[in-house]
Amino acid sequence: MNAKRFKYKNVVVLGAGESGCGAAVLAKKHNINVFVSDNGLIKPAYKEVLSQYEIDFEEGGHTLERLVKADLAIKSPGIPDKVPVVENLKAAGIPIMDEIEYASWFTDATLIAITGSNGKTTTTLLTGHILRKAGLNLGIGGNVGSSFAMQVATEQFDYYVLEISSFQLDGIFDFRPAIAIILNITPDHLDRYDNNFQNYIESKFRLIQNQNEEDAFIFWADDLVIQQQLEKTTVKAKKYPFSLGPDKGLEGATMENKTIVFNINKIRSEMTLEQLALQGKHNTFNSLASGLAAKLIQIRKETIKQGLSDFQNIAHRLEFVANIHGVSYINDSKATNVNSTWYALESMDRPVIWIAGGIDKGNDYEQLMPMVEKKVKAIICLGTDNSKLYEAFGSAIKTFAEANSADEAVFLASNIARNNDIVLLSPACASFDLFENYEDRGNQFKEAVKKL
Ligand code: ADP
Repeated sequence: MNAKRFKYKNVVVLGAGESGCGAAVLAKKHNINVFVSDNGLIKPAYKEVLSQYEIDFEEGGHTLERLVKADLAIKSPGIPDKVPVVENLKAAGIPIMDEIEYASWFTDATLIAITGSNGKTTTTLLTGHILRKAGLNLGIGGNVGSSFAMQVATEQFDYYVLEISSFQLDGIFDFRPAIAIILNITPDHLDRYDNNFQNYIESKFRLIQNQNEEDAFIFWADDLVIQQQLEKTTVKAKKYPFSLGPDKGLEGATMENKTIVFNINKIRSEMTLEQLALQGKHNTFNSLASGLAAKLIQIRKETIKQGLSDFQNIAHRLEFVANIHGVSYINDSKATNVNSTWYALESMDRPVIWIAGGIDKGNDYEQLMPMVEKKVKAIICLGTDNSKLYEAFGSAIKTFAEANSADEAVFLASNIARNNDIVLLSPACASFDLFENYEDRGNQFKEAVKKL
C-alpha cells in the first residue's frame, strides 16, 4: 500500500460516473472527507450509491469556492484537462489524479493492467476468465465493468485484471502493475492529445513507468510504434514480447499453426490448441497476451488451454448475429477506429457488404484500401457526414448507399447481399451522430437484422 493514502484529508471527485463514485466510496470508507461534483446530471443509480454511503455531492455545475478547499482532486477520465474547472484546480495547486491511481494506494493485490488502442476489453475479460478458472480470488475492472476503486472499497481480492485507457493513464503517478500489457498502439483519440500521436504514445507508456525488475512487461513485438518507443524508453521490468511465427527461442510467446510456445525465464513450454475461442488474427494476439500473463503467474497449462478455448466472446466485437437466406450478419459496432475495422475485414473470408461511418476521429482511410479492394463489394454509409468515405473509396467501390438508421442500413444491405455474402457493421467511427453509443448502435443493428 502507498503511504500517501492518508496524506490527503479533503478529497474532491470530479464526475459522478463509475470511476468517480468508486473513488468517493473508497475515500468515505476510510473516513476521508469527500465531496463529489458533476457538471451534468448524475445518473439515478449513481446518486443512490452516493446517498447510500452518505457522500455529499452537487450536480449541474461546479462550486469552485468549495472545490479549491480540497487537498486532492480525483478526475473522471472522461473530463478533458482543458475544461475550466480542471484548469482552476491546477492553478490552485491541487494535485489531480485518476481513480486508478487513488485506488492502487489502498490495495496490496497483484495488479495486471492492460492497455492498447484496440483489444483492451477483450484481453482483460479473457485474462480474467483464465485466472478465475484457476480459482484465483480476482477482481476484473477498470475501464470495463465495476471500477477498480469500488472493488478495492468493498472487496478483498488478491488479484486485479484492469483495463486501462490512455485517459486513465494520464492521471497515474505511482500506479505500478506487476504485469503490464500494451497490446498495440495506433492513432485514436487524437483530439484529446493536441492531434499529436507522440503524446498519445507516451500516455500509453505511462503504464510501465513505475515498474521495476520484479515486474513483467508484455507487448506485441511487431508493432512498429511500440518498437520505436521502446528505443527511447528505459524499461526496468522484464520484457515478454509476443508475436506470430516460428519460435526463435526468445523470451515471450509465439504462435504458429495451432501451437503456442512460451519461453519464460529460459524455460520453454508448448501448448497445442485445437481452436482458440476468439477468431481473427487480432484475437490471436489478444490470446497470446492473456496466455503469457497467466503463465507468468504460474497457472497450469491445462487451465490456460481450456480458458483460451471456451471463452465466450463479448457483444459488439465481431459478434455473429444471424444467417438469413445464406447471408451472415456480423456486429462489430465496437470498431470505432480504422485499425479495428482493418482486422475485422482481414478476418472476413467471403464478399462483404460493409456498413461504415459515424463520427470520424481524424481517420486515415487509405490503410483500409487494400482490404476494401479485396473483400468489399458494397458500402453502406451510416453517418450524418459520409463525404470522407466517398472520397476514400468512391473510385474503388461501385455500389454506395447512405442510411440514416440501423434499420435502413440493414434493409439496404440485405437487398444488395447475395447467397454466401457477409453484412458487416464495422464503422471505424464513433457513433454519437446517430446513436447514443456503440452499444446502442450494435443493439439497433441486431434488432434490425431480427426484423428481416
Ligand atoms: P478496446 O477495449 O481496446 O476498445 P475491444 O476488445 O473492445 O477493445 O475491441 C474493440 C474493437 O477492436 C473490436 O472491433 C474488436 O474486434 C477489435 N479488436 C480486438 N482486439 C484487437 C486487436 N488486438 N487489434 C486490433 N483490433 C482489435
